[in-house]
Amino acid sequence: MSELERLARLDGTEADPASVPVLRVRDVRKEFRGTVVLDGLDLDVPEHGVVVLIGASGSGKSTLLRCANLLEPISDGSIHLDGEHITDPRVDPDRVRRRIGMVFQSFNLFPHMSVLDNVTLAPRRVHRRDRAEAAERARELLDRVGLLEKADEYPDRLSGGQQQRVAIVRALVNSPRLLLLDEVTSALDPELVGEVLDLVRGLRDEGMTMLLATHEMGFARKVADTVCFLDGGRVLEQGPPEQVLGDPEQPRTRRFLQRII
Ligand code: ADP
Ligand code: MG
Repeated sequence: MSELERLARLDGTEADPASVPVLRVRDVRKEFRGTVVLDGLDLDVPEHGVVVLIGASGSGKSTLLRCANLLEPISDGSIHLDGEHITDPRVDPDRVRRRIGMVFQSFNLFPHMSVLDNVTLAPRRVHRRDRAEAAERARELLDRVGLLEKADEYPDRLSGGQQQRVAIVRALVNSPRLLLLDEVTSALDPELVGEVLDLVRGLRDEGMTMLLATHEMGFARKVADTVCFLDGGRVLEQGPPEQVLGDPEQPRTRRFLQRII
């Protein structure tokens, strides 16, 4: 029996690889010094699926994304990536992070490095890949997002939207199984938001599996297969965007949407 089949049997699902989500979060609790931030959270991201997290500030969106990337240890529960129990303490976090790309609100580019060096830093350090091979893949991706001509520029010569697109390219350079995006347009001037959202939509159309947090409800509606409303560190309501955003069941979801739109 394969590892996949064994895992599938353990939790009672069919041994069909398509039924094993890329990311599976089960009953995850996260406490910061006694304060409960994630409170028994369950969530699946299926292959090629786009799951969008919405919810008030402090509801746990960023913490969930950071836990999924093993930047924060969880207090209880489990997270599986492609059927592998990645929150097992014996797991090497670097090996897991190679399979996950993450982009933050603030682009986090290194100011003293060129765009190309920013993008290839991850494959050079984590992947130990050949420098030339990394540069080739980086150039290919920069070209796809229309930024090849900026390869030798420093980040401060780029607009915020361009910097964020570079940060997304950096997250893609290892060909991750899963892309985590945390409010990637929140730090941008309004006129620069569109170019970043268009890039994310393009990735979705190519089948990239994504879990993202956003305050852009119009974007959530267009890009999401599933919208999850987080409240107090739990998924209070989830479903297709037209249902959760258009006709929410929970009064708290309704109140949140009335405030934000
Ligand atoms: P969101 O992204 O939905 O705004 P966060 O995940 O950032 O929510 O935060 C959820 C809660 O966890 C907040 O109350 C926040 O203050 C708390 N929190 C987040 N990170 C830390 C930390 N490193 N130490 C202590 N508390 C934290
Ligand atoms: Mg946040």
